[in-house]
Amino acid sequence: MTDRVFQLIGSCNNFPWGQKGSKSLAARLCAKADKEFSPEDDKPYSELWFGDYPDFPARVLSTRELLSDVLDKNKETLLGKRVIEEELLYSGGKQTGQHLPYLPKILSIAKALPLQIHPDKYLAEKLHAEDPETFTDANHKPEIAIALTPFEVFAGFKPAQEIQALFTQIPDLRQFIPDSAQNSTNWDENSLRELVLTVLRATPETVKSVAAALQKADLSSMKKQTYIQDLLPRLQEQYSERDPATLVALLTMNYMTLLPGEALYIPADGIHAYLSGDIVECMARSNNVVNAGFCGPSEMNNLELFAKSLTFGEQNVEDLYLKYEEIGSSKTRVYNPPIREFRVLRTTLGGGDFEVLGQYDGPGVFIVTKGRGQFKADGKEFGLEEGSIYFVAPGVEVQFEASKDQELEVFTVVV
Ligand SMILES: [Zn+2]
Repeated sequence: MTDRVFQLIGSCNNFPWGQKGSKSLAARLCAKADKEFSPEDDKPYSELWFGDYPDFPARVLSTRELLSDVLDKNKETLLGKRVIEEELLYSGGKQTGQHLPYLPKILSIAKALPLQIHPDKYLAEKLHAEDPETFTDANHKPEIAIALTPFEVFAGFKPAQEIQALFTQIPDLRQFIPDSAQNSTNWDENSLRELVLTVLRATPETVKSVAAALQKADLSSMKKQTYIQDLLPRLQEQYSERDPATLVALLTMNYMTLLPGEALYIPADGIHAYLSGDIVECMARSNNVVNAGFCGPSEMNNLELFAKSLTFGEQNVEDLYLKYEEIGSSKTRVYNPPIREFRVLRTTLGGGDFEVLGQYDGPGVFIVTKGRGQFKADGKEFGLEEGSIYFVAPGVEVQFEASKDQELEVFTVVV
């Protein structure tokens, strides 16, 4: 019989925005569980993936077998009826249901990630059909990010009036205002989309001179925007004075700092660029992304496609936060984004405390981000330390326990 609970190792990648060497939490956690992995000091380690997506796949620790192969061989036991049926249903019968519906990661961010959106399902299917090399699956990719350290991000658009005030009151920015908005006091979605596209298409020289003017502009009448001048030099140092994404991020997007435990939900088509911090990230099982800046030319995608996919509309910064509820005498927080694919539970225990996570009808994967302890499941006991990753089959109850003088923090992804 197949084991219903087993330990995994993840895969770390090396995008240039990652923290270097053992400064990277992703690398440290990966190294603790996988004795064959040791981070080099001056190499960036950006993400630890621990799902079954083929790019950076998780493996079973004891056999080094791919998690995806093990799931494929034991669909009924390890994925369960619900996931198999849902995958069939939502893929129009194309998926055979051998996959986890989600993809969890740890990110360690030293500098801005590409300015990006993830296509919705309709667009993803179209892009995957046209260009399967770039868009490697036909799925959407709504994602959540939970801060482990203070986490800086650009996400969603500022209210239209704030964007409008910046672009009309700073003379050097007026060149980007589209004709359709010249005489309008209320910029609509199309004007904003055109504005973003015009900025993204600006020549490097224009970006450089506009940024210099922005740094000197008098923002005293727009108190909420004064942070722009603190961040501008930092972004310029990261991606040169000529990257138009700097202007898009600072002038049109919300800038937020999340505290540990706070979370963000990025819906499909939501613009975002993460800036710094360590986070737990989870998304629908997809790797589709459209980049428009803060990256090398080879990673850039079609700017028209990017602009066309943007969604504006009235949004409050507060709405970007993903609220959580607490269960189990407040030891577990549940982050439940408005999508069917997954929920994330954060369990924090003091020395000697324990917590039971009930049974779920889909597969679960968890990672220990802090501390030491053990857990009981399926009639067995397993040790836990920082970096431990386990797969738990549907219907298996898990009981975590922190060691006597140790805290324990565990993030569990469930369906
Ligand atoms: Zn993203």
